[in-house]
Amino acid sequence: MTSIISSNREILLLREADFALDGGAMFGIIPRPLWQRTNPPDENNRIDMSARCVLIRDPDRTILIDVGMGTRWSERERGIYRIDSQDPGLQQALARHNLGPEDIDHVILTHLHFDHVGGLTTADESGALRPTFPNARHWVQRRNWGWAHQPSARDGGSYRSEDFSFLEDADAPPLELVDGIDEILPGIEVIPCHGHTFGMQIVKITCVDATYVFLADLVPTTSHLRGPYVMGYDLQPLATVEEKQEILYHAVRNDWLLLFQHDPTTAIARVEMNEKDQPSLVPTGALPDSLLLKANGPGTATSDTVE
Ligand SMILES: [Zn+2]
Repeated sequence: MTSIISSNREILLLREADFALDGGAMFGIIPRPLWQRTNPPDENNRIDMSARCVLIRDPDRTILIDVGMGTRWSERERGIYRIDSQDPGLQQALARHNLGPEDIDHVILTHLHFDHVGGLTTADESGALRPTFPNARHWVQRRNWGWAHQPSARDGGSYRSEDFSFLEDADAPPLELVDGIDEILPGIEVIPCHGHTFGMQIVKITCVDATYVFLADLVPTTSHLRGPYVMGYDLQPLATVEEKQEILYHAVRNDWLLLFQHDPTTAIARVEMNEKDQPSLVPTGALPDSLLLKANGPGTATSDTVE
């Protein structure tokens, strides 16, 4: 595909919800005395997490990457995951930008874990679930689509089929199953990674003056930049280590801006290799959590607070 990327492309990070997960599970083999320095746990050993989505606005299309936790949670589950979402969080965030769910043309799903796709359906007054984004083409890797329908006993709790199985219905919004690396829309490239779960895809967004990479669960927080900091949830931790190493190598070399989906405080950062050859954050100063990143033309990357 020859990409013609609009110079008016806008990227917004939307914070859909805050929640919490077990710190031990989030850091795998790393001992608590090390991870608690950067991610202090609460009384139940849970660390703070955010669920961020990316909104991309081109003059001729509006794209959403992941849709967050959604609102279909029982009080018990809200307690377990300490879910703190406005109700409905993502739709309110879109409304602040004068958008409704029906305005979304494409929904790119990094993978089908509940904290990424919980918002795909919304319950109507009768309690029946309906697609939240009726006019959107929904994109997911074919491999993850297959795995999500028959996960293992180890990761079955991360997939709720009611979040995504409606996409098979005849009257559902269109589903696009992607095979491998693909530029699915101009300047929007998906790159599969298989360490976290089979067929996850991270998303590279090319603007006129900068390239952004939404890392999803390859590097969920800035604390996971270092090699062995891999989630206990990951199905293939060694694959995660290698995939992370490769992506971060290209990020440093090409000056990519990294977007962190789950970090409680840092939404965007550059990385560099330090004297020990470990990836470390380039200080960017305090950045607001909700950003409007504009591609205004060559050499003029800007970031503005929008709320
Ligand atoms: Zn995940």
